Amino acid sequence: MIYHYIPSNILYIDLSSNKFWVEKRQDLFEKYIGGTGIAIQLLQENCPKGCDPFSPENPIIFAVGPLTGLFPLASKTVAMFKSPHTGNLGESHCGGRSAVAIRMAGYGAIVIKGISNNPTYLAIYDNKVHFRDASTIWGMESIFTVGRIIRENEPGSGLRTIMRIGSAGERLVSYACVTTETYRHFGRLGLGAVFGSKKLKAVVVSGKRSLKIKDSKYYQNLYDEVYNSAVNSLVMQKYHDLGTAENILPLNELGGLPTRNLQTARFENASKISGEVLAQGYLGRRLACSHCPIGCIHIAALREPYGDEPYFYKTSMICYDYEPMYALGTMLGISKPEGFLKLMEQVEKRGLDSMSTGVVLAWATEALEKGIITEKETKGIKLRWGDYNSYIEAVKLIVDKSDGFYNALAHGVEYAASKYGGKDFALSFMGNEMPGYHTGPGAHVGVFIGARHSHLDNAGYSIDQKVLVNRKLTPDELVEYLLKEEYWRQILSSLVICFFARGVYTTDIVLKALQTVGYDLNENTLHKIGEEIHHEKYKFKIREGFNFDDFHIPNRIFDTPTPIGEFDRNFVLKAVKIIKKKIS
Ligand code: SF4
Repeated sequence: MIYHYIPSNILYIDLSSNKFWVEKRQDLFEKYIGGTGIAIQLLQENCPKGCDPFSPENPIIFAVGPLTGLFPLASKTVAMFKSPHTGNLGESHCGGRSAVAIRMAGYGAIVIKGISNNPTYLAIYDNKVHFRDASTIWGMESIFTVGRIIRENEPGSGLRTIMRIGSAGERLVSYACVTTETYRHFGRLGLGAVFGSKKLKAVVVSGKRSLKIKDSKYYQNLYDEVYNSAVNSLVMQKYHDLGTAENILPLNELGGLPTRNLQTARFENASKISGEVLAQGYLGRRLACSHCPIGCIHIAALREPYGDEPYFYKTSMICYDYEPMYALGTMLGISKPEGFLKLMEQVEKRGLDSMSTGVVLAWATEALEKGIITEKETKGIKLRWGDYNSYIEAVKLIVDKSDGFYNALAHGVEYAASKYGGKDFALSFMGNEMPGYHTGPGAHVGVFIGARHSHLDNAGYSIDQKVLVNRKLTPDELVEYLLKEEYWRQILSSLVICFFARGVYTTDIVLKALQTVGYDLNENTLHKIGEEIHHEKYKFKIREGFNFDDFHIPNRIFDTPTPIGEFDRNFVLKAVKIIKKKIS
């Protein structure tokens, strides 16, 4: 029996008619738990087959889980939509205050449909939804200013989430992101552009409900166990100390750090922009998502002269992690921390996905180097490795979509290469730009077969480093490893648990935590649910035209040696054939 305090209310909002209503869907939460499990069902229900990602029918779905607000690190919100970047499944996860705010407002999920006539932002307070006029903040250059204006005009400070887009989302750049609480993002696959297509500038959510518990003593003991395990974990300590930026040096040492569009996997200047250098010279503060005792969010303070007056400075606070450091740092050959931070600030300000932006710029630089394009296409910008000022200029032109070339870049690297050539070094996987790992076949096959083509689907890079470093795997064995991990991650993301805490939330802890909210599951059932959710995602992908026989593998991943043995096209093709058989 499931207790009444699982988050079964779904808030529907129609931007075309300015209407909203709530539906109880206990059935969905009982069967698919929450987060990813619920979101894929709602996507199948609400997104008509073949719908244009920019049409009113494309829904934006936010979903949280039954542990949100009750247990540490159940702090993520899952967003699902049809992606304008790949034309297929869009899924992106984000922390900040988003999950706890949605749960405290009384919802397990929010579904937004329609298109507003005028720029709008939504303010959701408990059971009320306000459709606010966003004309004055539409078109503003900086997403930071937009956040400040909304903060000053809306109540609920400290409890609310403010999800918003920048000019990239307004202008439908296909990899525009949605930013929450200034430093967290629904980064990948273009949720920002879907917001933009709906004339939706922002969504504010806040609520003050309290949550009931089945057995408060049992809950308290379990809470302490989870909390202590998190704060005493050495892995979590690493996330707190240097954050994911710690990965730069070990990956470089290993020879798995993509550099200059993966022309090489070692960066000679890695030690100049490492996590250690940023922590020592720039770290200004650390932040945490709501209900997280770790605080892995690292913010650099960049102090620069401002204007002509002497002794006049401005300090910018800029968030950094491993992935943007790879994409806007090593991938572009940038070795100055200030340069990386300035470029990062521009990308943040306009609301772009940093990973896709970095890969797009890296391809453009190599294309210019090889003469595939000329300065006529780049509008005179001399894109050169390490030259962060030219990259900053290019970012502005991408967001402006100012002409044919920058308009192509605004559609992603695969699209740009299809127009101009250079496919062999266009580093995208099923339409999504590559993450920062060239560790071996696990990393690349993992992104190919992962349901959202993200390194977070199944962490193939970790299999390279933990397993393949010791022994070779056949394609069958590798796919088995990847799928097992991906099935389990469906459970974690249905509970919206931060993947950094995957070592804390073991199967045993997950089952016990689910008991506190009334689920009576065993290990076998839990794993079956994970597998089913994965299957449902692929069902949607295939419905929308996904085809394993129709993909592009950039030669560059075979040409640049990985730290691990042989790795060729045949290996990838075999692995893809195996997964195709398994999921069809
Ligand atoms: S570990 Fe980091 S990303 Fe995960 S919930 Fe905590 S602050 Fe957020």
